[in-house]
Amino acid sequence: MNVAIIGGTGYVGLTTAVCLASKGNLTYCVGRNKEKIEKIRHGFPTVYEDNMEEILKDALSNGKLKPTTNIEEAVLNSSISYICVGTPSGADGSIDLSQIREVSEKIGLVLEKKKDYHVVAVRSTVVPGTTEELVLPALEKFSKKKAGADFGVCVNPEFLREGQAIKDFLFPKKIGIVVGELNKRSGDTMLRLYKTFDAETMRTTLRTAEMIKYARNSYLAKDISFANEIANICEKCGADFLEVKKGMEMDARIGKGRFLEAGAGFGGSCFPKDVRALVAKAEEVDVEPKLLKATLEVNELQPRKLIELTKQIVGQLKGKKIAVLGLSFKPGTDDMREAPSIKVVNALLDEGAEVSAYDPQALENARKIFGKRISYAKQAEYAVNNADACLIVTEWPEFAEGKLYNVMQQKIVIDGRRALNPLDLASGFVYHAIGFNGPVKT
Ligand code: NAD
Repeated sequence: MNVAIIGGTGYVGLTTAVCLASKGNLTYCVGRNKEKIEKIRHGFPTVYEDNMEEILKDALSNGKLKPTTNIEEAVLNSSISYICVGTPSGADGSIDLSQIREVSEKIGLVLEKKKDYHVVAVRSTVVPGTTEELVLPALEKFSKKKAGADFGVCVNPEFLREGQAIKDFLFPKKIGIVVGELNKRSGDTMLRLYKTFDAETMRTTLRTAEMIKYARNSYLAKDISFANEIANICEKCGADFLEVKKGMEMDARIGKGRFLEAGAGFGGSCFPKDVRALVAKAEEVDVEPKLLKATLEVNELQPRKLIELTKQIVGQLKGKKIAVLGLSFKPGTDDMREAPSIKVVNALLDEGAEVSAYDPQALENARKIFGKRISYAKQAEYAVNNADACLIVTEWPEFAEGKLYNVMQQKIVIDGRRALNPLDLASGFVYHAIGFNGPVKT
């Protein structure tokens, strides 16, 4: 099939575009930023993801991927348009749908000229009702056509995890494919695109598909905040959260593989903004979202815990050199949107500390946020070298190597992710972590 990916320069859009192209679909990757589209055209991804560069280069050399700023050409030559633009938080936490509105109007204008049947699929995360109340009316108004009769509409939420986006898209067995459909023809068209994917599929209404995405993200975010609350209690009671978690997972009703990850809290472009958007939507429809609010409150405080643990061992931070390892909101990505590292670094600077930071992929994005207020190390060793203490904020695998810390002058490691086993450190270190029965001396 031919498909158009609108918002193709972003994480979701580029992943969707290269993966659908790799499946043999002629894929138009539509962006509004000429520079970024040129970059993609030359085989350089605009976002970092494992395998992205290889799969992008293959798709370009096979002629299956067409990067363009021309939305009209893309929609006219496709059977399905995916809307993958951003849906950030507005000032009050509710969802900002301006990008969705803009592209819906633009697609509508093209649909007016289009003779063949076309399906518009909302891939962005939007609060329940958005497709029916905003996207569909905009498409009808600008195309002067009738949804359902003249063109189809679907909601096909994206469940990829940054850092594993390509794998999650191409092998969605564990996450499934959800298609909300305006009518049977819309859903049938959409599902033809996925017929070679090995995954359970679910067909439902547009609103239910929108809600499923929020329910999943909120559920996972709630698990993280739950783990953090238990870990904070563990620390004060002389229990180790990792052991507690292991014991919890023995119960089949809880099971393994849950999101019980205690640490500096969740960040990224999805969990915080999606939980906030659902809180705002719940309040709009007169539901008091107590659990969702508590999920956010616990998360807000968690990066601060790392500073408290550091002060507990180092004392006042004024004038101290602190190494921060890991800046992206999670390993495997360069994405720093709402990363806990931002709160950690800002808190360290407020305390008067000097910060030397390292991240394998996110340094470029970090510079845009912190500028000259901190120093940036090209290697983890350089960051920790003269530091009075080292804070692990993102669990990149390289930070689990005990020998990395041997160059430290002051041997203090505060682990915000339980990334490192203290037994792997040389002797003479002080190690502490969130949810840990510590500090311990190695
Ligand atoms: P992003 O900001 O990385 O990408 C959005 C892209 O849309 C940008 O590159 C922007 O330039 C482009 N864009 C905006 N308006 C445009 C227009 N008029 N024409 C062409 N391009 C336009 O955002 P993202 O992380 O890819 O997220 C996109 C959506 O997917 C959001 O709703 C998000 O909640 C959802 N989502 C994200 C993830 C994730 O892990 N990042 C996972 C699942 C769902």
